[in-house]
Amino acid sequence: PKPKRSKHLKDSSIDFCRIGGLNNHLKMLREIIIFPLLHGNVFSHFNIKAPRGVLFYGPPGTGKTLVAAALATEITKEGIGKVAFFPRKGADVLDKWVGGSEKNLRDLFEKATKCKPAIIFFDELDGLAPVRDKQTDQVHSSVVATLLALMDGLDNKPGLIVIGATNRIDAVDPALRRPGRFDKELYFPLPGVEARRQILEVHTKTWKHRPSSRLLTALVEATSGFSGADLQALCSEAIVRCMKRAYPCLQGVKIDPDKLKVDECDFRNARLCM
Ligand code: ATP
Repeated sequence: PKPKRSKHLKDSSIDFCRIGGLNNHLKMLREIIIFPLLHGNVFSHFNIKAPRGVLFYGPPGTGKTLVAAALATEITKEGIGKVAFFPRKGADVLDKWVGGSEKNLRDLFEKATKCKPAIIFFDELDGLAPVRDKQTDQVHSSVVATLLALMDGLDNKPGLIVIGATNRIDAVDPALRRPGRFDKELYFPLPGVEARRQILEVHTKTWKHRPSSRLLTALVEATSGFSGADLQALCSEAIVRCMKRAYPCLQGVKIDPDKLKVDECDFRNARLCM
């Protein structure tokens, strides 16, 4: 079975160094989110509006959640104060009782406002705020309207940033994509050749015996179409293969991780099971 990928949401050690192949994204986020937080006085002096919401979109496993979590750490590192991070799955905010979802949203914004600077991260935003049409039930419409109102209120709350993520940008209600709401959109593509190399480097960085440059090149060529999450899973599976090869009888042995030398064969076997 495909190894389970980790979400790292609660790991505060996730920073930009743990992200591969998204340098332009990180640079842009520095400019549009970190810069206005650091120099809020200049922005307000010249009445420049910093974006309040950013929408990440793209295929699964391309680093949207990872970048949002790392952003909180990076801002904290800038010395503005500890940034509170509120990750929520879109559907988890929904409540079966009438008015419950709207209350959950209001409570979340209120809590985050109290903890500023803060980031609210809505994963699977399309589940929470789907396109409204004649068929959409009343409940969903009311949830979207509440979210719109809360986003509009962000103007008076500098230091509170909302990030939404979705695999299906067309399924998100278009009113949320207007200026003043999620007014910046950032596409997370499947990684290309250079990005795959950087992601593999990130995930093997702590290994005592890191893959050679030649092996990395071979891996990059063999993983076209892989997401960052797939590459992470490939590395994890290769380690397991290596353990089984080095210690055929795993029971009762204490394995020294520094002695494990993951080779091409382990990666090939790992690749075959994906
Ligand atoms: P989904 O749309 O399914 O929620 P996602 O785009 O939010 O997916 P993440 O949850 O951020 O994807 O990625 C899952 C895991 O994949 C990360 O915890 C990380 O280990 C790995 N990963 C993904 N992209 C990258 C990257 N660019 N650099 C390093 N690791 C990555």
